[in-house]
Amino acid sequence: METQEKNELLRGGHFIVKETSCDDVFTLEDLSEEQKMMRDSTKEFVDRELWANWERFEKKDYEFTFQCMKKAGELGLLSIAVPEAYGGMGMGFVSTMLVCDYISGVTGSFSTAFGAHTGIGTLPITLYGTEEQKQKYVPKLASGEWFGAYCLTEPTAGSDANSGKTKAVLSEDGKHYLITGQKMWISNAGFCNLFIVFARIEDDKNITGFIVENDSNNGISMGEEEHKMGIHSSSTRQVFFDNTKVPVENMLSERGNGFKIAMNALNVGRIKLAGACIEAQRRITNLSTSYAKERLQFKTPIGDFGAIKAKIAQMATNTYVGESAVYRASKNIEDRIALREAAGNSHQEAELKGVEEYAIEASILKIALSEDAQQTADEGVQLYGGMGFSADAPMESAYRDARIARIYEGTNEINRMLIVGMLLKKAMKGHVDLLGPATAVGEELLGIPDFDTPDYSALFAEEKDMIKKLKKAFLMVAGKAVETFGMELEEHQQLLLAASDMLIEIYMAESAILRTEKNAKRFGEDSQKAEIAMSKLYLYQAVEIAASKGKEAIISFADGDMQRMLLMGLRRFTKYVNYPNVIELKNLIAEEIKAKDGYTFDQ
Ligand SMILES: Cc1cc2nc3c(=O)[nH]c(=O)nc-3n(C[C@H](O)[C@H](O)[C@H](O)COP(=O)(O)OP(=O)(O)OC[C@H]3O[C@@H](n4cnc5c(N)ncnc54)[C@H](O)[C@@H]3O)c2cc1C
Repeated sequence: METQEKNELLRGGHFIVKETSCDDVFTLEDLSEEQKMMRDSTKEFVDRELWANWERFEKKDYEFTFQCMKKAGELGLLSIAVPEAYGGMGMGFVSTMLVCDYISGVTGSFSTAFGAHTGIGTLPITLYGTEEQKQKYVPKLASGEWFGAYCLTEPTAGSDANSGKTKAVLSEDGKHYLITGQKMWISNAGFCNLFIVFARIEDDKNITGFIVENDSNNGISMGEEEHKMGIHSSSTRQVFFDNTKVPVENMLSERGNGFKIAMNALNVGRIKLAGACIEAQRRITNLSTSYAKERLQFKTPIGDFGAIKAKIAQMATNTYVGESAVYRASKNIEDRIALREAAGNSHQEAELKGVEEYAIEASILKIALSEDAQQTADEGVQLYGGMGFSADAPMESAYRDARIARIYEGTNEINRMLIVGMLLKKAMKGHVDLLGPATAVGEELLGIPDFDTPDYSALFAEEKDMIKKLKKAFLMVAGKAVETFGMELEEHQQLLLAASDMLIEIYMAESAILRTEKNAKRFGEDSQKAEIAMSKLYLYQAVEIAASKGKEAIISFADGDMQRMLLMGLRRFTKYVNYPNVIELKNLIAEEIKAKDGYTFDQ
């Protein structure tokens, strides 16, 4: 396997064929003083304004969400990613992610409002707007004077987003488009001033994006607030457009470019959503740890029971691994944007291409973090016992709020299929060489295995070898699947899901190991005992998933000798020389979290 040149910036999707040095990954421990200050002031805002008023969110107090958004605007939290030329702070991608992460708290209502406004409600203009559009709208959105919403979904167009029926008809004088149609599930609809609306002109193959000001005198009306399972005070309504007049100069980018805009906005939205799943997990872990230390049963704090320790260890591990992967990818994006700017691209172009480059990683993170947040919240409910089921304790709403993250910004099924699809497209365009490494794995399988016992005495020596082997396992499975089905692979969805699960686990496990290795090198191994344990625990679980998903995939498309050979290869690539003692690891992690009174790994 090729090793990434030192200081060479890893390209999107290349992690599967390249080995990365720990010195080349960014971690939360690398934050600058300025970034730490921003993190701390965001946390303070959450504690003071959001967490202290958690019950108001649960009581569907939409006006309160609006007021909190206004306050976030006054503090500059809505303008982090906006270029200075349009009234923003123009900070880098990592800083943007930090705010998305820490502002999420445990209330999904606010983080949805925040994400819909700063992400999909504002980004289409900063990324695709003309200079006039940006000057006119972005400063108002950055300050919180105005709020944005994003109207893509329709009653009959959800995952199939390009199939919307909303129409845009050019007026006879050629000065306006008249938009008519019904949009559904629109976050922030109840208080926004501006919509990004996608509509079809004539019988165009692709939809077109428009900036539409919210004006009830211009044929815009709303449905009632939706009755939702969670994120109770995030405003979600249907929006109806009836011959809504939109000046032609409010078209975003070009006619027929709307699907591309929608997808690129979602690329950013996905990684930001992943970020927004982290702080919820930290806080759930902290609340659970405190509860476990205080709640006595059988005259013993429940946190002393092995069953509960396992839960605390898993919560912390999910959080740590999620952080590691999200900030690794965020810095890659930031660096890619800087590289493109240095090469002469405008900031707008650089940002667009920089984020697009890591679309595979963005989908991986969206899936992994949304599912981890769900699992963490679920275990939080379980740890609280009956109190976990009570709406008077925070776990109940955390559990319900976490659920939406698997559905919006592209469902996790759609994202799983996208991951493998995008990787194969990159390979076909020659942007990533999958064929060479896949062929090498095939040759290795036919060769005689090396029976020497490797020297695994150095920190993570075996784990890093295992990551290499997992990559080979993925290349073997995906390579054979492509060889078997060719262009028809996309019709074999369950096979794609299995392959994408392998890819997700590899990226997440590798990110945690690299972060811990980097920190062990600079802070000493002794200071990283729990982090080492979390990285090892996650990898063990990743290997189990890769082995079972790989097996499921192989059996589905290979039989006879080929099946036997592939299964043998899979066993070889998922076998430890020294299995980690998983129970010991969980106990160590849980004891450390209890001793520190919660999750404190990024301080
Ligand atoms: C609270 C909330 C807020 C939202 N906010 C916004 C917003 O601000 N703006 C906006 O435009 N939209 C928004 N949405 C819409 C959201 O993006 C969609 O709900 C989502 O994209 C899924 O579309 P759908 O609900 O129509 O489900 P469907 O597309 O009908 O999917 C149903 C199921 O089928 C699966 N499925 C669909 N197609 C395929 C396929 N080809 N292969 C395999 N499986 C498939 C899906 O994964 C899913 O499990 C929001 C939704 C909610 C619930």
